[in-house]
Amino acid sequence: MADTRMEILCLEQGDWVNPSDYPSSTMDWESDNKFNSNPNHRSNAADYPINVSESPISIANYNGVGGGTILFAGHYPRFHPSDFRVKSLDGIAEDWPVDYRMLEKYYDENDRMMGVSGLAGDPAYPPKEAVMPPIPLGRTGETLAHGFNKLGWHWWPSDMAIATEQYDGRDKCINLGACGMGCAQGAKASTDITYWPHAIRAGVKLKTQCRVREITVNKEGKATGAIYYDADGNEQFQPAELVVMACNGIGTPRILLNSSSALFPDGLANSSGMVGKNLMFHPYAAIEGIFRDAMDGAKGPHKCVASHEFYETNLERGFLRGFSFETQRGYGPAATALRGIFTGRVPKGEGHHAAYGKMSERVAGLVAICEDLPELHNQVTLDTELTDAHGIPAPKIQYTLSENSQKMLDFAVARGTEALEAAGAEDVIVQRLVGNAGWHNMGTARMGLNPQTSVVNEWGRSHDVKNLFVIDGSVFVTSAAVNPTRTIQALALYIADTIKEKLASATLFD
Ligand SMILES: Cc1cc2nc3c(=O)[nH]c(=O)nc-3n(C[C@H](O)[C@H](O)[C@H](O)COP(=O)(O)OP(=O)(O)OC[C@H]3O[C@@H](n4cnc5c(N)ncnc54)[C@H](O)[C@@H]3O)c2cc1C
Repeated sequence: MADTRMEILCLEQGDWVNPSDYPSSTMDWESDNKFNSNPNHRSNAADYPINVSESPISIANYNGVGGGTILFAGHYPRFHPSDFRVKSLDGIAEDWPVDYRMLEKYYDENDRMMGVSGLAGDPAYPPKEAVMPPIPLGRTGETLAHGFNKLGWHWWPSDMAIATEQYDGRDKCINLGACGMGCAQGAKASTDITYWPHAIRAGVKLKTQCRVREITVNKEGKATGAIYYDADGNEQFQPAELVVMACNGIGTPRILLNSSSALFPDGLANSSGMVGKNLMFHPYAAIEGIFRDAMDGAKGPHKCVASHEFYETNLERGFLRGFSFETQRGYGPAATALRGIFTGRVPKGEGHHAAYGKMSERVAGLVAICEDLPELHNQVTLDTELTDAHGIPAPKIQYTLSENSQKMLDFAVARGTEALEAAGAEDVIVQRLVGNAGWHNMGTARMGLNPQTSVVNEWGRSHDVKNLFVIDGSVFVTSAAVNPTRTIQALALYIADTIKEKLASATLFD
């Protein structure tokens, strides 16, 4: 967008993170709460509370420059072509108004910006190139891949947003391991060190510690700018010709709903009533094996191999759509002890050390990422009592697991157990639903051709407000069964490109 020479300003409620503050290079990294993924537990100044009392899954995010990519694992798959055509293929949900082929060049561009490591040739996908060689499989990856081989299931080294070579000013991965608390090495592609330096060099301005309260509109129904609180808590108004929302699947509907006015009494861009509705997570199951031989412990990127054996619908399984498996390395010493105690594998008193020794560095597991389907009653609304530090209503999550997801989780747990046993696990620990796994937030301002059933059109522009755009996971029509960030970013590039084209041809507001 900076190519257009428009003045571009981004308002971010958090601040820059200094990589030397990351706990990932310290001995006690596991006990650091500033990088806890649950905002209700972390409670940094930039965080806002989220009411999850009516959801079995709580939200995970990070509020600061780079957003959730500061904490993300960097597991970086693309969507499958079929993910954009769920209604046509399976008669449920909706098809997307865009497809894989349209997004392909933006996936490629984003891969270069982020620096993706991987191995070309995955039969689960149309051909695609990796920018760097894959991360090493390690003992975890090799062991679990042997298990998949025994069962004859698909697996492939994961595409990762982690540099395996020096890339664009970033250093390569040295297996620090604590990727989920920020990468002090700079190998993980958090967007503060990938996109932002380029954007700033191109003239984009970023104001940090500025929390947006609402988007304002004029009497013609066009967005005029944003009201926000600056670092000193003072209310400010930022005028704008175009407004682009990128606050994530929870933060974007929150601000749209909070931007009600005489013209938009139910919240901005909400004539369809779909703002906040159709919230999708990925229900996660975790299946962990305890092995006789040492695995990698927490050393190295969390993930390295994925299996898409159960990705597409097979009606014999009793549910629609499917899930993917990701291999998962083990834990640091403190988390190993806690998991041992909570799962009854490690006693607190007598025998503690011996039992801990059998678990330490010997855990390797799988997570199953299940495709969630859009349902109107799964939603983000504004809490009537809870607010953030500036008095802005907090989001409230109301979410139930569908019968389809329940069946899928059961099936995934059974297959995951089978895979770990095939890989040689001596003991298997199952967590059927991971409660803190609300890190993929999608669907709450979905895209579509029909203004009555969607919030934005096929290029991310609000149907109701012709200079308002959404470029985060809110616009997803369905959730697929893989992590969403590469697709969020490809869509953002596609929407930006479309805005540029339409500006050039003076058709942006038609
Ligand atoms: C622990 C964890 C692990 C993850 N692992 C993976 C993974 O392996 N692979 C993957 O694909 N994805 C993963 N994710 C998800 C990934 O982080 C998100 O998909 C991605 O960050 C979404 O990008 P976004 O810019 O749309 O939203 P975010 O990254 O959430 O950024 C939104 C930004 O908006 C700001 N904001 C919100 N409201 C306001 C407001 N009112 N005013 C001003 N600023 C505001 C926030 O502070 C934040 O910085 C993970 C997430 C977490 C938390």
